[in-house]
Amino acid sequence: RKIETSWNFDNSYARLPKSFFTSLKPSPVKGPELITLNDTLAASLGLNIQELRSSDGAAIFAGNQIPAGAAPLAQAYAGHQYGYFTMLGDGRAILLGEQITPKGERFDIQLKGSGRTPYSRGGDGRAVLGPMLREYIISEAMYALGIPTTRSLAVVSTGETVIRETMQPGAILARVAASHIRVGTFQYVSNWCSTDELRNLADYTLQRHYPDSHHGANPYLTLLREAIRRQAFLIAKWQLVGFVHGVMNTDNMAISGETIDYGPCAFMDIYDPATVFSSIDSKGRYAYGNQPSIGAWNLARFAETLLPLLHENEEEAIHLAEIEISKFNELYHKYWMKGMREKLGIFNEEREDEVLIQSLLNMMQKYSADYTNIFCALTHDKMEETVLYNTEEFSQWYQLWQARMGRQKETKEISKQLMSDSNPGVIPRNHRVEEALEAAEKGDYSVMERLLHVLSNPYGHLPEHAEYAKLPEVSGKCYKTYCGT
Ligand code: AMP
Ligand code: MG
Ligand code: MG
Repeated sequence: RKIETSWNFDNSYARLPKSFFTSLKPSPVKGPELITLNDTLAASLGLNIQELRSSDGAAIFAGNQIPAGAAPLAQAYAGHQYGYFTMLGDGRAILLGEQITPKGERFDIQLKGSGRTPYSRGGDGRAVLGPMLREYIISEAMYALGIPTTRSLAVVSTGETVIRETMQPGAILARVAASHIRVGTFQYVSNWCSTDELRNLADYTLQRHYPDSHHGANPYLTLLREAIRRQAFLIAKWQLVGFVHGVMNTDNMAISGETIDYGPCAFMDIYDPATVFSSIDSKGRYAYGNQPSIGAWNLARFAETLLPLLHENEEEAIHLAEIEISKFNELYHKYWMKGMREKLGIFNEEREDEVLIQSLLNMMQKYSADYTNIFCALTHDKMEETVLYNTEEFSQWYQLWQARMGRQKETKEISKQLMSDSNPGVIPRNHRVEEALEAAEKGDYSVMERLLHVLSNPYGHLPEHAEYAKLPEVSGKCYKTYCGT
């Protein structure tokens, strides 16, 4: 008897106006092979793991076989890339459909690297094995860190060669997302479609992502407000773990509030707000310290698209939008402060907390200290192992911190537990990710499997995780990532 894969597609996006997408199948590949399958994610989606591990899985994730009920399409979108507005769209991705899980949740299943589409511009529509495995590793690490993110269901190699600077093995990533609606999707519809179509997209987005919000008298203002709140929350989470997205163009900002598009992203080792990894971001537009302000800039672009829906009078609409946008900084700051207090084991709020936090960060920057490891050392009373230990500033700071903890009713033990739950012991450090990808490219997936296993439990603080906390022999500061592969 054939085992059911339990694909349970609905295709609500395909029922939206035709101008929003192009119906299109993935282009088949020569020799699909399943490289990695996310068993727990597959199970939560209601999929049959055994069947996906058979040749069917490879064929489906390669786009060679269309699962029953799917209605494949490429989405149209636009976006500000490094500040410049342009038409984009899924140039190398196909949305198979929306999988309805046994719990009734709806998730996009998208194949990235699935061939050319009408939105490919000059590109070949394909993706390379290394970067797809990199997205798999980092997105799953983000998920385990408790950060809203798209997830990775599988990677297949295609048996084909992709031409980049050198010849590279081709691959396809199966990505799972609450949706792929971006700020850029709204920019596209706002620029090239009618106001009715714009309202259609806004209603659809509200229904899909904010079904429980009280939409009130002005639902589109609610949409803007909620999108702003979720981005403030998300970017605060990034800052708290030292994640640098690397390419925060408006087409890479999801209205769902999930982290999307793992291109030139990386985690910061040594604390420095100027940290940039992307080889093409020479001006540091998307540096670690700029992420909150870029977030606000992108949200202002989103607000602009909603103006015709916010109020019939344009001046009134602008006024309403500006009020919402102006709340971003405060919201972001509130989420960031909450997270920082947790990292330092602080439960109650005092006015001077921000000074305490900022002076710790200043010390990290001055003495080139590793961001993740300092918080871990504070958690586990191992500051003597760090560069801050013998400094005058740190001794003073430590006294202030201890005194601060004394001014709350929670015991020291409870504080330590909060710190242990808030400070990851392991992050996907660049040299570890590179090591895993190098082995994978030689056909050895064991290094990656072990890394994925360790990263799945970042707050476990297990002894066997210690080696993953180590810094690279050469400073990670000059590490560069390349996008567009
Ligand atoms: P990104 O920088 O990843 O956000 O991608 C920006 C745009 O380039 C999107 O429209 C992608 O679909 C498109 N793109 C990236 N790589 C390729 C490729 N190899 N072939 C076609 N389109 C691509
Ligand atoms: Mg993108
Ligand atoms: Mg990308």
